[in-house]
Amino acid sequence: MSSQRGGECRSRSQKHQNRTAFKNDKYGASPQVKKANAKVHDGLCQRCTEILEWRVKYNKYKFLTQPRKCVKCLQKTVKDAYHIMCKSCALSLELCAKCGKKEEIVITLGGAEGEEPAEAMAQHPQGSGNRTADSGWTDDEEAGDSGERDSAAVGK
Ligand SMILES: [Zn+2]
Ligand SMILES: [Zn+2]
Repeated sequence: MSSQRGGECRSRSQKHQNRTAFKNDKYGASPQVKKANAKVHDGLCQRCTEILEWRVKYNKYKFLTQPRKCVKCLQKTVKDAYHIMCKSCALSLELCAKCGKKEEIVITLGGAEGEEPAEAMAQHPQGSGNRTADSGWTDDEEAGDSGERDSAAVGK
């Protein structure tokens, strides 16, 4: 029983907060963080844009795992986290998709025509275990266990 211990307790307490230029990818950005950083908060008012940008910045932005119900059309069409209505409703009603208020939209929806930001295409390079079944360990040694082959050679 040898338990290897690379004990290195990292418990450094931060006394001074660096409130200037907080970068959420400082400690290595996870795919989720990168995705959040690339996120365009369109269809939102100034306040909501800032809130979501803040969330992204401080790694508090959580993506939806499944579509939410839109408060307007009551369909499960809300694909953006923290939004209360879907983009088409927000666009047609000219409301902020997050707070639902009639505010000036910072980045208008549908402005960027053509390709959607490929959210569904978020590729995870998954190393799904390619386990080569290595059970072909034929041990021949067992053969000489019971039979005495040697005596045959000695005889004659
Ligand atoms: Zn809707
Ligand atoms: Zn808003």
